[in-house]
Amino acid sequence: MSHEVLGFDVTADALLEKAKRDGAETMWDRKAAMKASCGFGEKGICCKNCSMGPCRISPVEGKGAQKGICGATADTIVARNFARTVAAGVSSHSDHARDIIHVLHMASEDGNYKVKNPEKLMKLAKEWEVDTEGKEIYQIAHEVAEVALMEFGKPFGTQRFIKRAPEPRQKIWKDLNIEPRAIDREVATILHSTHIGCTSEVDSLMDMSMRTSLSNGWGGSMMGTEFTDIVFGTPTARSTEANLGVIEENMVNILLHGHDPSFSEMVVLAAEDPELMKLAKDNGAEGINLVGMCCTGNEVTMRHGVKIAGNFYQQEMAIVTGAMEAVLVDVQCIYPALPKLAECYHTKFIATSPKAKMEGATYIEFNEEHALDITKKIVREAILNYKNRDRTKVMIPQQKSKAMLGYSVETIIDHLDKVVNSQTDVFETVKPLSDVIWAGVIRGAAGIVGCNNPKVQHDNSHITIMKELIKNDIIVVTTGCAAQAAAKAGLLTMEAKELAGRGLREVCERVGIPPILHMGSCVDISRILDLVSRVSKERGLDNSNLPVVGVAPEWMSEKAVGIGTYVVSSGIDTFLGITPQVTGSARFVDILTNQLEDKVGAKFFFEEDPTVCAQKIMERIEEKRDRLGI
Ligand code: SF4
Ligand code: SF4
Repeated sequence: MSHEVLGFDVTADALLEKAKRDGAETMWDRKAAMKASCGFGEKGICCKNCSMGPCRISPVEGKGAQKGICGATADTIVARNFARTVAAGVSSHSDHARDIIHVLHMASEDGNYKVKNPEKLMKLAKEWEVDTEGKEIYQIAHEVAEVALMEFGKPFGTQRFIKRAPEPRQKIWKDLNIEPRAIDREVATILHSTHIGCTSEVDSLMDMSMRTSLSNGWGGSMMGTEFTDIVFGTPTARSTEANLGVIEENMVNILLHGHDPSFSEMVVLAAEDPELMKLAKDNGAEGINLVGMCCTGNEVTMRHGVKIAGNFYQQEMAIVTGAMEAVLVDVQCIYPALPKLAECYHTKFIATSPKAKMEGATYIEFNEEHALDITKKIVREAILNYKNRDRTKVMIPQQKSKAMLGYSVETIIDHLDKVVNSQTDVFETVKPLSDVIWAGVIRGAAGIVGCNNPKVQHDNSHITIMKELIKNDIIVVTTGCAAQAAAKAGLLTMEAKELAGRGLREVCERVGIPPILHMGSCVDISRILDLVSRVSKERGLDNSNLPVVGVAPEWMSEKAVGIGTYVVSSGIDTFLGITPQVTGSARFVDILTNQLEDKVGAKFFFEEDPTVCAQKIMERIEEKRDRLGI
């Protein structure tokens, strides 16, 4: 077992030792068994798109196979693989969004799902020109949901939300013919075009990847965020705690893991049910302790302050504590290994989504029609399992940190309003933010997002880059597992401003925010697009003009590739701390890290050393400032 790269997380080593004692297999055992990863896969030069293959291209130019049986070159194979990765990422986010839109479509005054934020609904209705005259709120909700559902498969036109982008950006998309029309269409077209004997032209595959990714950033993800806010409320600033130390010795612990807030919100309600609380006490527990992980954890902590047990990497560790009565999962980023791991303890592993049935799991299908009844039944199972906990196997690390989160765009603007001069300025804009950037008090902004990846030390890249940037007066916004890394490291606190440079510290003090703002889950990266675009529009510029970057220091998922691609396509440079599987094509690498800049005004940077990455980010931000003359 090689787990030296876990060294950064002080809780991990002891738990890994415990896993070994308990006979529990973890990702570290599997990683060791994997030995070195396949060089062809690593470089993206293997293809199994038809049964003449699989084919693999020699990594050495001029030596060995240079083409697949159909004649596809390394460039084509790498670009096709990349395009399919984007399509998979886009479909995950967008399918998640589709579900939440359906939830709004079924919302009613007396149902499980209601409209919690009618103002946001009315704003969206207006933006989409849905007639609201004389209609009651639920009728409007259903009509807006129907319009949204058409965004997945409409036969004509373009995605509605691309109109939210700055005008120069919209023009770039139009000129390049990469305006997305309908989400499912873009995904299906990529699958079609990457079939054997279709597109072999590398630039075309890149354009298709961009168009498809935009259907997520400015389509699926943006709708996911908007509709989740409408149904469950827009997040506001609140405090919580993070890390495995939030698991309680004397309570029924329930881990929420996955992504879908329509399920997790119901679990939050169920856990507050007086009858179930009494049941927990009758079974000897002090109460019910809900804790979250990955993006579902982000969703419920942003709206309810539910504590964060950890990020992607810690999903196994939460079970190894021996104190988890149930792990409730929906979709995405859930290790298939978890049900087997849960068997080493008393933990009930409950899968709930027909889209993610898992071998070895207890399956209780979640159904939106009977949402609360089903989740109550599931929470009941967890409570009744408390008595089965083997106390000799319990080891809960004591580490936990305080964190402030809930920084939606609306909440950020509310905070910015504190420094608006009521005589001379207007409220409810991002002007105070753009003013401090233009004045140089803050040098720029970075959105740090994405996963964990065992190729690098757990959370180390996230934290190193975040600390370095805030020290140099670059404000950081964060989502996903990167945000949870920041929470665990205590960087989402008001006190963390002491780690910031003078300018950023001053801004934090005046505005009353931490130097790193948790903006939510992975679909909520659309909030970052919104924020950046508001600043661009306020200055009459394009996103690519701003001293702003995206960073995914420890990314691992296909979703992350889809995100990185829409961020670059939206004009924002993106730094990747893990090199994607594209290096088998020097031409495709050149497109990603060089040529894209001529097309969309932004490009990818690959840099695995977090300290060097931070340095490059700062250089790029200063370069953008110079170009602006600020
Ligand atoms: S599509 Fe071409 S490169 Fe891919 S497996 Fe088939 S023959 Fe080989
Ligand atoms: S950041 Fe990555 S690992 Fe974490 S929930 Fe999102 S996609 Fe999954």
